[in-house]
Amino acid sequence: MDTKKICYKCLLEDLDEGKILKTVKEMIDAIPEDKRTDPEEYRRRLEICKKCDSLISGTCIKCGCYVELRAAGKNRTCPNTKDMWHL
Ligand code: SF4
Repeated sequence: MDTKKICYKCLLEDLDEGKILKTVKEMIDAIPEDKRTDPEEYRRRLEICKKCDSLISGTCIKCGCYVELRAAGKNRTCPNTKDMWHL
């Protein structure tokens, strides 16, 4: 069994960028496969985020999520008033 630890009580100031990316990837890996977005759809969502004014340093200012984590959830939607991922 995988015993990777995720710190839910850390502030960003306690993490460096490499650690943040590693933590986000670990959280994505922890999403059960049947609830995870398929790779093609995941890339499509992130390409939309990259063109969006609400993306700041990997974070969506509409919801405060790391977009790479939010996009990885199959049933997640874009928090914009008009869901940009499903126009
Ligand atoms: S508003 Fe939607 S498209 Fe824009 S950064 Fe946030 S999740 Fe991505």
